[in-house]
Formats: sequence, C-alpha cells, structure tokens
Amino acid sequence: APHVAVFDTSFHQTMNPVAFLYALPYVLYERHAIRRYGFHGTSHRFVSRRSAEMLGRVGDPALRVITCHLGNGCSITAVRGGRSVDTSMGFTPLEGLVMGRRSGDIDPAILLYIMGKEELGAAELNALLNKHSGLIGVSGLSNDMRKLLEAEAAGNERAKLAVDVFCYRLRKYVAAYVGVLGGLDALVFTGGIGENAPAVRARSVEGLGAMGITIDPSLNDGVRGREVDVAPAGAACRVQVIPTNEELLIARD
Ligand code: AMP
Repeated sequence: APHVAVFDTSFHQTMNPVAFLYALPYVLYERHAIRRYGFHGTSHRFVSRRSAEMLGRVGDPALRVITCHLGNGCSITAVRGGRSVDTSMGFTPLEGLVMGRRSGDIDPAILLYIMGKEELGAAELNALLNKHSGLIGVSGLSNDMRKLLEAEAAGNERAKLAVDVFCYRLRKYVAAYVGVLGGLDALVFTGGIGENAPAVRARSVEGLGAMGITIDPSLNDGVRGREVDVAPAGAACRVQVIPTNEELLIARD
C-alpha cells in the first residue's frame, strides 16, 4: 500500500528566521538544527483557510488571522495571507500556551534549580513538564477543561486558578501576535476547548477591546462545535469558532 506522511510541522516552514531562531549560540542551530518548528500545523492550516473563506478573502496576501488550537495540546499561530509567520510551540510541543498536562512557557532556569532541590533527572523532568504540569498541575484535579469549569462553578478555587492561568497566557499570546501581524482581521478558536467552551473564549479576550477584539456574549454563549462568528455586528475584527478537520486535509494531501 502506498504510505503518505503529512507533517504537522510543514505549515510552519514559512516562518522567517526572526521568528524561528532562539537567542542561543548560533552554532546550536547549525550543528543540531535547534529552532522553532511548531506543531498542530494541519489544524492551523485548515481553520485559517476556513476563516478566509468565511470572510471572502481567500488569496488576499494582506489577510491577518490568529488561530488558537485549544485541545489537550494547545498552540496559537499568526497567519498572514494564508502563511504561518509565527507559532507558540517550538522545538517540541512543550513551549507556549498552558495545556492539559504541559506547562507551556516557563523560565528554563527553574529546571536547573529544582533538579538540585528535588533530585530529579532528565526523565523525571520530562514527565514533570509534559505530564504533571498545565491544567492538572495547577488545579491538582484534572487535565480536562470541562471538569475544571464544572469544579470552578461548584466553588473549587484551584480549578478557577488553573482556568484563569490558562486564559491569561492565551490573552498575552493573542496580544503579542497582533503585534507580530500589525493588526488583526480575525481571531479563530478551534480544538475541543476552543470549539466547546464559550467561557474560555470570553475570558481569553477580556481586556483586548483596546485592540478591537471583542465577543458578543449573546452570540458566543451556548456555541459548541459549530462554525459561528461571535464578534459583535460591525466589529472590524471578527472572532470565529471553527471546528477543525485535520482528517480532511490529510486525505486531500
Ligand atoms: P481535543 O484534544 O481537541 O479533543 O480537546 C480536549 C479538551 O477539550 C479537553 O480539555 C476537554 O475537556 C475539552 N472539552 C471538550 N468538550 C468541552 C466542553 N463542552 N466544555 C469545555 N471543554 C470541553
């Protein structure tokens, strides 16, 4: 049977060195190809294309879209004219947003510090960052956003804190990527959380009104798993909920 490989990194190969290089000794890039690769590319590619279709702007090189893939793994991508210009996952899927079980961004010096304090080796640190951090790490309860939202509603403070940290990190990245793109035409939410958690969408854009990014609660509330534009009528920046479809793109590729 013919085998086809569709790489989750390929969409991000259009990034410029200014976005993909880490400020490490350049020799590490030359010798070991240490750079940002980005992941979830198939999903970001699918929803950014759907966003352009919904806006009637497919092929417009000036179209500026930010796509938030929020599932068990989470990443955010800045897309100009259908091409990825920056993304939050890096050399591995660990960097960037808070995820179900992954920390996302941390100060790397924390690792050196706790290695000594807790006598942890490479394998334990890997498990700490990839399995015991993120939503489950902060909440101590679950990596599942639905469970955390239910626990928060029932008065669980740590569940609320985990959701707050998740939304706050996302909000910072959205604002950063508006800077990267020099403005924004559409913000897209996808993935299990992005498609199904109206509260997370609303909390992640809180305070971004100054950048023109707002959600109409009457459009956003109750929207689960379907394609809807939830920005207020007449707002210049659209906010779109778009169910992802990685399988379709893989089949087409
Ligand atoms: P995925 O990896 O894309 O399947 O996304 C899984 C994440 O989506 C988990 O954190 C789920 O709790 C979350 N999720 C799915 N449905 C809902 C929902 N109705 N409300 C909140 N989170 C949800």
